[in-house]
Amino acid sequence: KSWSAAQSHALEVLTEQLTLSTEQLDMLANEFVRQMRTGLAVSDTSDLAMIPTYVTGRPNGTERGCYLALDLGGTNLRVCLITLKGGHELETQQRMFKVSQELQEAEVSKLMEFIALSIKDFLARDHINATLVEHASDSDRLEMGFTFSFPVSQTAIDAGMLLRWTKGFSCAGAVGHDIVHLLQTALDQNDVKVHVAALVNDTVGTLLAHAYTYPNTCLGAIFGTGTNGAYLENTKNVPKLKTTAQEMVINIEWGNFDKDKTVLPVTIYDNKVDRESINPGLQVFEKMISGMYLGEITRNVLLHLIDQRLLFDGKSSTVLNRQWGLEAATMSAIEDDKSPNLIPTSQILESALDIGLHTLADREIVQRVCHLVGQRAARLSAMATAAVIRQGLSGSTGGDSSGILREYRHVLRAGGDESRVQDSTEALVEPIHVGIDGSVFEHYPGFRAAMNQTLEELLGPAAARVVRLETTKDGSGVGAALAALMAHKDA
Ligand code: ADP
Ligand code: MG
Repeated sequence: KSWSAAQSHALEVLTEQLTLSTEQLDMLANEFVRQMRTGLAVSDTSDLAMIPTYVTGRPNGTERGCYLALDLGGTNLRVCLITLKGGHELETQQRMFKVSQELQEAEVSKLMEFIALSIKDFLARDHINATLVEHASDSDRLEMGFTFSFPVSQTAIDAGMLLRWTKGFSCAGAVGHDIVHLLQTALDQNDVKVHVAALVNDTVGTLLAHAYTYPNTCLGAIFGTGTNGAYLENTKNVPKLKTTAQEMVINIEWGNFDKDKTVLPVTIYDNKVDRESINPGLQVFEKMISGMYLGEITRNVLLHLIDQRLLFDGKSSTVLNRQWGLEAATMSAIEDDKSPNLIPTSQILESALDIGLHTLADREIVQRVCHLVGQRAARLSAMATAAVIRQGLSGSTGGDSSGILREYRHVLRAGGDESRVQDSTEALVEPIHVGIDGSVFEHYPGFRAAMNQTLEELLGPAAARVVRLETTKDGSGVGAALAALMAHKDA
């Protein structure tokens, strides 16, 4: 390496700050399980909300019908018509509508009107009409599932109150209100013949959609603009919930894990990201992991190096100085560069960050920082995944093993006092599927590999064989349609 002694030292310090050992992650996973159980027991916990979703089962791939799906949660609004054909087969027609920053901060009635008109626009298309006629939707109202990827407190499959906005949204008049009611009102006012049958989080949608292909899916997770997970829980383990259902999908809202930073190894760079965000002190875990923030953490690290004259000869650029000036996709592209002289990185620095003057050492340092931030995100993502699986293995503090994955206890490590040595010669078991949606998981180089490696560290050697992390194609669309179907059937 061509680094100076001072550069090497700075990188050593960064490596120390941003690298998480197996022991640290194991401790975090135990704390994660503890916070899960607290959230399952009481309604007002400060960390993991553990929200009952009123989705009381999983699909198995035989479902049929034509349903609308709506996906709001990031930069785009997506309207889809999903035709479920049974036999794990389906078809999707969809359109995207950009949700402007202005709309993200407007009165919620404006946002809902925009959504209603977007649906109207979508339904007016000829090919959509043709599909509906072909599949003979008899009622005059289409059933729709709404994937709404913000923390909502649900009281029924089709009712939920917004707890708080995340990810850049801040529409007035929404927090504390029923999102389904707000949308149904806008649909009715604009004469759109659609009934909102189900409200689901994108994690729930991902879980349901993945189960349509792989019925043994236990967790749906998002590693995109934000991060979160939803899993199937035995209702015996949910003291705060009164229900006759045996199982229910729980929306963990894991982005808020360890809100008070009691165990998370937050750095000064994380604290800066948090402080300058629109929701300081909240979603601290999400801010260490998800696509919206990875670039921002990296940007803060790079600026710190620049300010010590250890990078780019102490010179920054307007883009790099600006909040959100560095995107996760740029980090991906830099990490993708495996060439010895990092010429592609050179071009990226120029085009994405307007940094024209740099040495090979500079480029290596930038790549190294991206790698440290990306690996930490992947390992923390796997920690959350492992914690949910551990909860599934054990289920409750009593040790009576009421978790839905209890039959995997002999092959996977439950953690804490329950950890045991594995028998890796164990006969093959039905894999546990984890459905994952999000550009970070899908596109960030090495993210999936680092997650798999970390799962092995936390769940034992059999994890590689038993736990399957897979990309769920269109979880939020297909999942919402499946939720609408399940709600409609139950109603
Ligand atoms: P959403 O979460 O909004 O539904 P995505 O799953 O596409 O959408 O995630 C978008 C996030 O992923 C953004 O924060 C973006 O910065 C990040 N992202 C987009 N492309 C890439 C990439 N190639 N590598 C890593 N992150 C990416
Ligand atoms: Mg998404």
